[in-house]
Amino acid sequence: TFHHFDAIIIGAGAAGLFCAAHAGQRGLRVLLIDHAEKVAEKIRISGGGRCNFTNRDLDVRAPHKHFVGQNPQFCRSALSRYTPADFIALVDKHGIGHHEKHKGQLFADRSAEDLIAMLLAECADGKVERWQPCAVTSVSRTDDDVARYALETSRGAVSAHNVVIATGGLSIPKIGATDFGYRIATQFDLPLIERRPGLVPMTFDGAAWEPYAQLAGLALPVEISTGSKKERMAFVEDLLFTHRGLSGPAVLQISSYWQPGTPLAINLAATENMGEQLLAAKVRSRKLIANELAAHVPSRLADAWCQQSADWQRPVNEASDKALAKLAEKLSRWELIPTGTEGYKKAEVTLGGVDTRALSQQSMEARTQPGLFFIGEVVDITGWLGGYNFQWAWASAHACAQSLAAE
Ligand code: FAD
Repeated sequence: TFHHFDAIIIGAGAAGLFCAAHAGQRGLRVLLIDHAEKVAEKIRISGGGRCNFTNRDLDVRAPHKHFVGQNPQFCRSALSRYTPADFIALVDKHGIGHHEKHKGQLFADRSAEDLIAMLLAECADGKVERWQPCAVTSVSRTDDDVARYALETSRGAVSAHNVVIATGGLSIPKIGATDFGYRIATQFDLPLIERRPGLVPMTFDGAAWEPYAQLAGLALPVEISTGSKKERMAFVEDLLFTHRGLSGPAVLQISSYWQPGTPLAINLAATENMGEQLLAAKVRSRKLIANELAAHVPSRLADAWCQQSADWQRPVNEASDKALAKLAEKLSRWELIPTGTEGYKKAEVTLGGVDTRALSQQSMEARTQPGLFFIGEVVDITGWLGGYNFQWAWASAHACAQSLAAE
């Protein structure tokens, strides 16, 4: 038997499910294929199991604020046609309770499973046919006007007028991430932007890291920055010490901007006038400097920090003004060069991907390959931590579905 569809969507994750539902509801005959046993595994594990499904602070007129890539402006069209408010309305329509946690981040009250159930219900509404698990072994162009594409799959041959690639990025290979989308792009002569892990913990090693290795588990709010003056990027978020290095929202966010071999600068001093505070302590206190410092930063950090210099391992009243000033200065500008990152095993996203210059920002269709579309994380658009990546998945899927139905 040979099956024909208006659209075949490969990848039943966030973008694929959403695109399939909208295209189906607009009357198209849609097949959704995924090689994994279970649907939308990444949604299931996202946001600590509660799925941070969008962000209220997203500024659709200025996407470069919250998205990384060669050309963040590319996502403006799709994001402004399907906004966080649109997705929130859908979540409300399905009666899924949600709450804002931090900086506009919206989470499901109960479980990410509720969002998966919502997406599956929307697909059922659109009479989407889903084959899973099903492997796609080849995608090829035909000369036929109706069936422009022919696919070989583990469940037989299929053809379609349009093919949508929604296979996501490379992070968390153990739940089904593959480079399928990038391989299809290359097969059809579309340029790729180099891939690397984003929103990822960073690793440090060597003697310089030794004093901090004992701080695993410690968290504190910091300002973290990277880049030269002109293109400096900074975040104020929590930092977490781990066994192998640094993590927490501060480090995940900055990792998407960090260039290998360059330093990070971390301001560990919660109070701006730390220098003055230490000088004031010198007059009234005989405690160890580390004990005075512990009024401003966690005491384990204060202890480890003061071990860096003999000048800092004495009672504060015996310290020189210069030593105290230096301590405050260093604490507010801790410069360190990461050895690397924890890689795709731990990364939340993949930076880079299909070059946006090869795609239409209206429809996500490849300019040189009529009927071939790329949506979601496989495209060179990466959001900040905080629901931005899912909003890009929903919005790019929606733009694509609109275009599929308009033909
Ligand atoms: P995916 O959702 O990854 O879906 C891709 C699908 O394609 C998968 O089902 C996969 O099985 C399938 N596939 C892959 N290769 C093939 C192949 N060869 N053949 C057939 N099918 C294939 N973002 C947020 O906005 N908020 C969060 O709270 C959040 N938390 C996260 C937590 C973790 C631990 C991780 C790893 C990511 C998180 N993200 C979060 C990022 C977000 O999950 C992704 O950006 C988003 O899922 C991308 O959607 P997508 O549809 O493009 O890809």
